[in-house]
Amino acid sequence: MKKILIIEDEESIADLEKDYLELSGFQVEIANDGDKGLEMAMSGNYDLYILDLMLPGADGFEICRAIREARNTPVIMVSAKKDDIDKIRGLGLGADDYITKPFSPSEMVARVKAHLARYDRLISSSTASDIIQIRGLRIDKSARRVWVNGEEKSFTSKEFDVLTFLAQNPNRVFTKEELFNKIWAMESVGQIATVTVHIKKIREKIELDTTRPQYIETIWGVGYRFKV
Ligand code: CA
Repeated sequence: MKKILIIEDEESIADLEKDYLELSGFQVEIANDGDKGLEMAMSGNYDLYILDLMLPGADGFEICRAIREARNTPVIMVSAKKDDIDKIRGLGLGADDYITKPFSPSEMVARVKAHLARYDRLISSSTASDIIQIRGLRIDKSARRVWVNGEEKSFTSKEFDVLTFLAQNPNRVFTKEELFNKIWAMESVGQIATVTVHIKKIREKIELDTTRPQYIETIWGVGYRFKV
């Protein structure tokens, strides 16, 4: 389970964020002042930070800088003032995103998911091999190129992302919702049908017979599985 630290001195806001994130399946901890937040951020093992700018004790600038010196974990900064957001962008502190209060909790959850997915992709692309070879299918992740039985096929960016994600997680069933959340994250909320369209396009390029796919299987009523 992904673990998130909220550093926020307005308790009602912190609690609201926590409720929404927990409903989405995250584990959440809260620090209500900057010094405690800095200490927790540095000592705990979190997957993402939600960091308020104005805090008693260490402020958001200081905490963001300290996090960035130690790790690449995503940081979403929150401020009540649009001017402050512009200022922190200008400072180049290395936060991954900025949200102005008041914000809708569901939008915040969408952004959290997007940054976690992006970070996962970053990690997997830098640690795993760049070439995936499964039977006649060859994927070069760094060059973003695909060959089927020796012949190169062209893929759109999202088709490539879907194919690569499935091929990297073989024999696991993913629902359309899961694929959508992984690949599209916050870009086009609610368009689950786009997953089906992309799977169809990918099959036309990699399968010999799209009615009897040898790579991407449909698991009826559940989703898709990359067969190895
Ligand atoms: Ca504050």
